[in-house]
Amino acid sequence: MLGTCADLLIENSAMIFARHLLVVCAALSMAGCTHFFLNHAKVPGTVLVVYCVDTESNAFNYGQFSQSLNLNSFVPNNIIGQTFDSTWRDSLTDSYGSSLKITWFLMTIEGYRHTPQGINAIPEKFLKHFGERLSDYGDEIGWHYHHADWYWNKQKKQFGWNQIQTFSDSVYREKSDRQLAFTQLASFIYLNQIYPASFRAGWNWENTDFSNWQDSLIPFDYSNNWPEVDKNVIVYRPSHTSVFESGNLYRTIVRCVDKLDTTYIKSLFEKADKGENVILSHYTHNYGGTSKKNNTLKARARAMHNYLTRLSSRYSISFRYCSAREAADLLSGTICSNDFDIDVSFDPQNRTIRAEFDERVFGTPIVCYERKDGWIDAAFMKLNVPLKSWEYPVEDAGIAGFIVASVSKCGQSFLSDRMVPQK
Ligand SMILES: [Zn+2]
Repeated sequence: MLGTCADLLIENSAMIFARHLLVVCAALSMAGCTHFFLNHAKVPGTVLVVYCVDTESNAFNYGQFSQSLNLNSFVPNNIIGQTFDSTWRDSLTDSYGSSLKITWFLMTIEGYRHTPQGINAIPEKFLKHFGERLSDYGDEIGWHYHHADWYWNKQKKQFGWNQIQTFSDSVYREKSDRQLAFTQLASFIYLNQIYPASFRAGWNWENTDFSNWQDSLIPFDYSNNWPEVDKNVIVYRPSHTSVFESGNLYRTIVRCVDKLDTTYIKSLFEKADKGENVILSHYTHNYGGTSKKNNTLKARARAMHNYLTRLSSRYSISFRYCSAREAADLLSGTICSNDFDIDVSFDPQNRTIRAEFDERVFGTPIVCYERKDGWIDAAFMKLNVPLKSWEYPVEDAGIAGFIVASVSKCGQSFLSDRMVPQK
């Protein structure tokens, strides 16, 4: 599998460096150009830089069942708002003259559901204040999920919003571990009308069952800061028998580090120097210094930028600021058409939701539905091979409305209009 990734990297060099190679490529087909890269490693790669922020409430008490969330960092002009300042952004430009991009992984956790602000507290507050600014610099919204429930912690000898380490239909409080995650994702999509293309696991936790579930849902996974995976492996597709090994699953797992480790950053420039395109992805939180002079998010971006400009000039290697989805797309070389649209209908006679089959879909489309009691949940659609469609029979009479949601292999989202199942 890693061999395949490397092939994709090499192939993709042709795309990224097309403008440097117009003369060389003029007389060659694209395939010929790829061949050129394979045999002449002197053509350098690019370092694609992804800045991830896990966007959370910074004072959540994991030992308290219900509490009001501190959302101070989400008001304008605070730690997050300051990063949308155009003078600052424009002071951080890559080798192509484009400004820094940030991928905001908005956090959800079951514990937030039991606060006055509710399950959608973080995405709602973030999007309210900064949603319209996202397109200014090509920022992206990803999903950050903390897999947790309220249960007795044997070590701490107390109840708390403790991390769950299973994904096996085990029940902790009321819902099973799988149901918790699915209803969290459903709420994220349904309430924000956003289908995330990129994911980061809370506490960096994933196991193989969780990974296999993710593999039907979200194409790009920036959770790998795992000691189980060789540090030289930047991008891979996991195996269905181990999330930590490469295999034949579909989503792309990208290494994303927390520390600004100069040895690691240098190693990526060295890979690029040998002709590879690489992703340098790093993450932090909206915690810490929040004043204009001491803003943790800005300080981290600046420190990384200083490394990048120095190494870029030392190795004569270009770096490019990308969002999470964009970097994974560039690396995989998957080509998608601009519009991604699925035909969705409701058959009242059979009470069945139908979506036309589309091979561009990543994984399986889901139906996100809201019950009359306000509970939001989701279910996978099933493939109907003869009819070439995905289907979902609405058996629950309590469903008040639903949307069909999906994502393409390139991370383009699809959300149908909200529909009401007629009688
Ligand atoms: Zn987190």
